[in-house]
Amino acid sequence: MSKNFNHEDFSHWIFDLDNTLYPEDENIFPQVKKRIIEFISLEFQIDKVSANKKRQRLYNEYGTSLRGLMSENKINPDKFLEYVHDIDLSIINKNLKLNRTLKKINGTKYIFTNGSFKHAESVLQKLGIEKNFHSIHSIETSGYIPKPSKHAYEKMMLQENIDPLRAIMFEDTKWNLKTAKMLEMTTVLISSKNDLLENEKNDYIDYTITDLEEFLS
Ligand SMILES: [Mg+2]
Repeated sequence: MSKNFNHEDFSHWIFDLDNTLYPEDENIFPQVKKRIIEFISLEFQIDKVSANKKRQRLYNEYGTSLRGLMSENKINPDKFLEYVHDIDLSIINKNLKLNRTLKKINGTKYIFTNGSFKHAESVLQKLGIEKNFHSIHSIETSGYIPKPSKHAYEKMMLQENIDPLRAIMFEDTKWNLKTAKMLEMTTVLISSKNDLLENEKNDYIDYTITDLEEFLS
């Protein structure tokens, strides 16, 4: 980490949601993944193994399985989102420490997620940090075009009048930071400890951290 991190350099704070504002081991994403496989299996009347293969291929080709299902199969996005985000969030605990830390940060904070609006609201409420955020930019508000597509970032930046040189983005998904850097934002990768050991140098990542709250405070 060569650069010194200075809060005052930023007036726009952009946070991914899942596995960024709560750790990966809270086991939320595996539940969503399971629901996606179920959805595909029911929709196309195929077994779970084939459904998972389809999910993986669509994810690789389109960035999200939803985007793939919309492009190839004209699936109704709201029906899909409703189904796959119907999961148990009881494992997510209130994070008072993170709430205090976010409160202290001057500048406007945003959620920027490839998940649904309702999912983002529920997770933020579970964490008890929802009051810190000016707005939620979800997959619906980006017109179902997910990160890392430039379109999603530009739409948010225009809407919120974000100056990328005064913006910092937090993410656990590396390639979503590539677009942010291309648009001249400062980028922070949240990585598990194991990943850190093997983390290769990426010129589009300014900081790699393991603990968001610790980094912010
Ligand atoms: Mg994430």
